[in-house]
Amino acid sequence: MTEYFKPVTPIWCPGCGDFGILASLKKALSDLKIPPHETVVLGGIGCFGHIHNDLAVYGYHALHGRVLPTAMAVKLANPRLTVIAAGGDGDGYAIGGNHFLHALRRNPSIVYIVSNNGTYGLTKGQPSPTAQVGYEGTQETPFEPVLTALSMRSTTFIARGFSGNQVQLQMIFREALQHANSLRGMAFVDVLSPCVTYNDTYAEWRKATVDVNADAGYDVTNRTKAFQTVLGLLEAGKLPTGILYRGSGKSYEEMVLQGKEPMAYQNIQPAANVEMYRKLISRYK
Ligand code: SF4
Repeated sequence: MTEYFKPVTPIWCPGCGDFGILASLKKALSDLKIPPHETVVLGGIGCFGHIHNDLAVYGYHALHGRVLPTAMAVKLANPRLTVIAAGGDGDGYAIGGNHFLHALRRNPSIVYIVSNNGTYGLTKGQPSPTAQVGYEGTQETPFEPVLTALSMRSTTFIARGFSGNQVQLQMIFREALQHANSLRGMAFVDVLSPCVTYNDTYAEWRKATVDVNADAGYDVTNRTKAFQTVLGLLEAGKLPTGILYRGSGKSYEEMVLQGKEPMAYQNIQPAANVEMYRKLISRYK
């Protein structure tokens, strides 16, 4: 199917940060030689939720806020696939907030990329959960997705990139894909991705971003110190980027499958399952 499917040209506004995310993701997939026919990209809702149409891989457009449970189901059915869930901050942190928390808690081996621009670009610029105080009059404290992820003990890979820094973003995506594909759990990547039409933050974010990995003393395996550093930078008006935390723990597939053959590899021929069907039918007699 991927041989016949021709990706379409993105419909984003010229200069949108999502172009940077798409370019970095393509480069990382190609650097790691991940086969397109073994890759599934699931898009949520919002401008960035279109990304699965722009890549020559299997794609799925999920319901609003529901990209994570769908991606988890794909991974459980076939853990050998590269599974990438993608969506905007409105999709993932507002209507999808509950699924975000529980995906972090469950730790499925998928990559979750959120294009975070602090606004609902697709519906003309209303403040999203990550909108800064003052944007369109909002007075609410912004939601901090990386702090939330750091606060959950089951998370195993947390990173933040900036679509204005392609070199760092490509490195983050390569590491995230390797983490998820070695079945070590969920690789969550929040990407600061300016919406040039409604919330053009390129200049501001270029000044505020701080690469934590540039500090040789930053220990990505120490959750407590990572939390303190990230919180300290946020309180100082900075935006921490880079690989913020990497740990180990049980993945969701490991917990659910417990060594059983995943659904995609089970023998579904009727003849091989006659006994099971008989037992099932006998329960309804
Ligand atoms: Fe990008 Fe904003 Fe345009 Fe949407 S509205 S495509 S987020 S610049």
